[in-house]
Amino acid sequence: MPSFDTLIDSVPTGLWIDGQSRPAASGREFDVLNPATGEVLAQVADAGATDADAALTSAAAVADEWAATAPRIRAEILRRAFELVTQRKDDFALLMTLEMGKPLADSLGEVAYGAEFLRWFSEEAVRINGRVTTAPAGTGEIVVTKEPVGICLAITPWNFPLAMGTRKIGPALAAGCPMIVKPAEDTPLTMQLLAAVFAEAGLPAGVLSVLPTMDAAGTVAALMADPRLRKISFTGSTRVGSTLIAQSADQVLRTSMELGGNAPLLVFDDADLDAAVDGALAAKMRNGGEACTAANRILVQRPVADEFTERLTAAIADYTVGPGWEDGSRLGPIINARQRDRLAALVDDAVAGGARLRTGGAAVAGPGFFYAPTVLDDIAPDSTILREEVFGPVATVVAFDDEEQGIALANATEYGLAAYFYATRLDRIQRVSRALQAGMVGVNRGVISDPAAPFGGIKQSGLGSEGGYEGIAEYLNTKYIALPPT
Ligand code: NAD
Repeated sequence: MPSFDTLIDSVPTGLWIDGQSRPAASGREFDVLNPATGEVLAQVADAGATDADAALTSAAAVADEWAATAPRIRAEILRRAFELVTQRKDDFALLMTLEMGKPLADSLGEVAYGAEFLRWFSEEAVRINGRVTTAPAGTGEIVVTKEPVGICLAITPWNFPLAMGTRKIGPALAAGCPMIVKPAEDTPLTMQLLAAVFAEAGLPAGVLSVLPTMDAAGTVAALMADPRLRKISFTGSTRVGSTLIAQSADQVLRTSMELGGNAPLLVFDDADLDAAVDGALAAKMRNGGEACTAANRILVQRPVADEFTERLTAAIADYTVGPGWEDGSRLGPIINARQRDRLAALVDDAVAGGARLRTGGAAVAGPGFFYAPTVLDDIAPDSTILREEVFGPVATVVAFDDEEQGIALANATEYGLAAYFYATRLDRIQRVSRALQAGMVGVNRGVISDPAAPFGGIKQSGLGSEGGYEGIAEYLNTKYIALPPT
């Protein structure tokens, strides 16, 4: 493991603009905390409207040249960045553990997943195709081309500090678009290190900027009001996402929205229970439960509910809680005190409403923002905890009677990001995977994210897809050129 101080000292803490790290125009900085200790980890430059303008100016200066750069060259830069991130996987992993809190094993998993977007889109950069067809009436040729949308803004959340950036930066750069990233204020360091790695990989100055800020609303509003910006790609809460959709109307920006989720995980009476418990643990506890795809509601058919809940409770109660860099730690802290208190209030409210606490149910005393791994069942159907994103290591278990009721409960949410189910009968697998209202369905799998697959939600979980062939289309405009008949 790298030394904490040496690693932190190697991360640029200015704003990354025009290929270098520099102070904010205002000279302001803000503190980044280590959530496992509550102590200050680093101070980072705090961007404002003047810096937003500087980032746009540097992006505009290179936009045409980057769009005209041969796809193979764009691909090779992305590929080199993939290799450098992979070579420095221990640095990236420890940095995420220090600023976000997740255990090192989870951080290493995110480095592999996050880096893969750079490799996948390096391979997609050379496969951007249009088409040529003869008009049906023979009156001419229809030529369809794909062009980069122009300068893009990525706004990312704190829960996956690397991967939420690379799955936007990868396709943008592959498509020929400059990108400005506004990372989450709790976890700006990982993007800063990535910007330095991209410079080392040969990315021209101005193509990628990183603007940490404590004034997300003001800095983003300045960027979005500027006609040089053409697209925003946002990952975060539905509340902020819908504000940004409204704001994007002024300049008619292209938008991609990866928003909140309230994923159900159904366990039917024909499920393989060993696999279902393992899958529920992965879907609920991965990343400390701080994932938009986390199984927010575990719905179990009544004949297997008691046995399933007992086994799940025993496994969750066994999680070792502690700083993510310590050997054996399987559950790190919650990102900050505010989120920890919100989680505690959700659990307290459910228990006051009659829910049974099977394990956990309280914050952990001592430094940092830890919350005990928790399981609740017998929850009142109208409890807030079943309607809102839990975003923490709290599993809620609800029993259902038959397939129809299970599907109705699963779909009774305004969200539609991920859904999971465990069953073995083929007819049931076919019916349920079609009936679930979600952008992604895991069948006998608790982890579904893959850079080669389109990740995205329906309903209030968002617009558009990231990853797969679909991911790069979000950064391309379609142009139709009408030619005379040959
Ligand atoms: P958040 O919406 O509070 O913040 C996300 C980002 O938006 C941060 O960078 C923040 O600084 C910025 N922001 C906040 N207010 C803003 C404003 N008014 N204008 C512009 N930017 C603003 O979300 P969070 O708490 O950081 O992240 C957790 C949320 O992200 C959860 O709802 C989770 O489900 C969602 N998420 C979704 C996906 C997905 O792919 N669908 C992935 C990860 C997280």
